[in-house]
Amino acid sequence: MTYDLLVIGGGASGLIAAISAARQGLKVLILEHNEKPGRKILATGNGKCNFTNLYQGPETFRSDNIDFPNSIIEKFNVSKTIEFFEELGVYHKNKNGYLYPYSEQASSVVNVLVMECHRLNIMIKYGIHINKIISPYFTIKTNEETYYAKKTILATGGCSSPKLGSDGSGYLLAKNLGHNIIKPLPALVQLVSSDNYCKALAGIRLNAEIKVYINNEFIILEEGEILFTNYGISGIPILQVSRYATKALDENKDIYIKINLMNNMSKDDLIEMLKKRIINSRNKNIEEMLIGLFNDKLIPILLNKSKISKEKSTSEFNILDIENLAREIQNFQMNIIDHNSFENSQVTAGGVDTREISNKTMESLKVKGLYFAGEIVDVDGTCGGYNLQWAWSSGYIAGFNAAI
Ligand SMILES: Cc1cc2nc3c(=O)[nH]c(=O)nc-3n(C[C@H](O)[C@H](O)[C@H](O)COP(=O)(O)OP(=O)(O)OC[C@H]3O[C@@H](n4cnc5c(N)ncnc54)[C@H](O)[C@@H]3O)c2cc1C
Repeated sequence: MTYDLLVIGGGASGLIAAISAARQGLKVLILEHNEKPGRKILATGNGKCNFTNLYQGPETFRSDNIDFPNSIIEKFNVSKTIEFFEELGVYHKNKNGYLYPYSEQASSVVNVLVMECHRLNIMIKYGIHINKIISPYFTIKTNEETYYAKKTILATGGCSSPKLGSDGSGYLLAKNLGHNIIKPLPALVQLVSSDNYCKALAGIRLNAEIKVYINNEFIILEEGEILFTNYGISGIPILQVSRYATKALDENKDIYIKINLMNNMSKDDLIEMLKKRIINSRNKNIEEMLIGLFNDKLIPILLNKSKISKEKSTSEFNILDIENLAREIQNFQMNIIDHNSFENSQVTAGGVDTREISNKTMESLKVKGLYFAGEIVDVDGTCGGYNLQWAWSSGYIAGFNAAI
């Protein structure tokens, strides 16, 4: 069968790419190896699908070619994304700038995309795994059929959450077509620590500021709710910084994070506050003095790290002890030795090198008629709707230009 356009992958970027091309009259076929489309979309935003974010800034996207993501995003931006989905029936709910379908069901997003595919007579074939594309006329041979097309969009996603379909096989397709692949690594992933107190802290959630240091150099700061786990640390701020950690670990660099457990006050104010607590805790030991300030599992670890005996009475406490304790509270260090795997990561850093892709059309600069969309390329976003925004923008632009 001959088509104008083959789209490999029926996820977020593949569905919108197919729609954008078919709206301009192309005969489009989507080949998807799952039995259903958009399986990953269903898992997004805890099943509610945080499909974009009103705040867009250059720091929300990461890539080895840092200007690339925004040059595509600005061609199909948040307003156009909102308009696109409203036209399909998805009205949005705004939660501090994070946008969800009003129904708060990710399935609404998949359903409207699939309904639009049907309306446009886009053919979707399921259960077909593509492991080879022959160029220059794109040919795909399966056991049942051979498909030809003038143009192809690779929208196979990255390696993250492979159980949802994105098993990394798209990289091999791109590589075989002559593209360089920047080593894919998990991003938006939990970090593993070598510190033996992790198990004791598991389950504690708290608001904190975290700073990442790689080879003793400060790299990035994030703030928000962290979660101590029995293997290390998780929570949104950890996911946000994780792509720097996974890359540094891959390069055998040393990584630690410093957690400011009381980021709502300056060091001097903290010292003053501790002094007052000591005065008010005359009959207590130092461990008892900290009750009410920190989770009680955290207190002995804080004291141990500050080299203060927990039995020490508050009357024996001197200014040096107070300063040591304040320093530990605001610089609680965790050594990072690993990260969780692709199974647990929400997105993949790395992928098809964007220096080989047009920043206007998403067309390959190496193979005419070949386009890329979504997570397969070396672009990853922070948490907050940015990865889907990348899928919508890159998919729409790839499909639109494939039809020109
Ligand atoms: C748990 C979880 C929660 C998330 N939450 C959010 C969120 O709230 N907001 C947000 O912005 N982002 C979120 N993301 C990230 C976001 O879902 C992805 O970045 C986005 O779906 C990527 O779209 P894509 O089309 O590039 O890839 P995918 O959605 O992964 O689609 C790729 C498709 O290609 C198919 N495929 C792959 N290889 C082949 C092959 N060889 N042959 C045929 N078919 C193939 C796959 O089965 C899949 O259907 C989340 C991710 C996860 C895992």
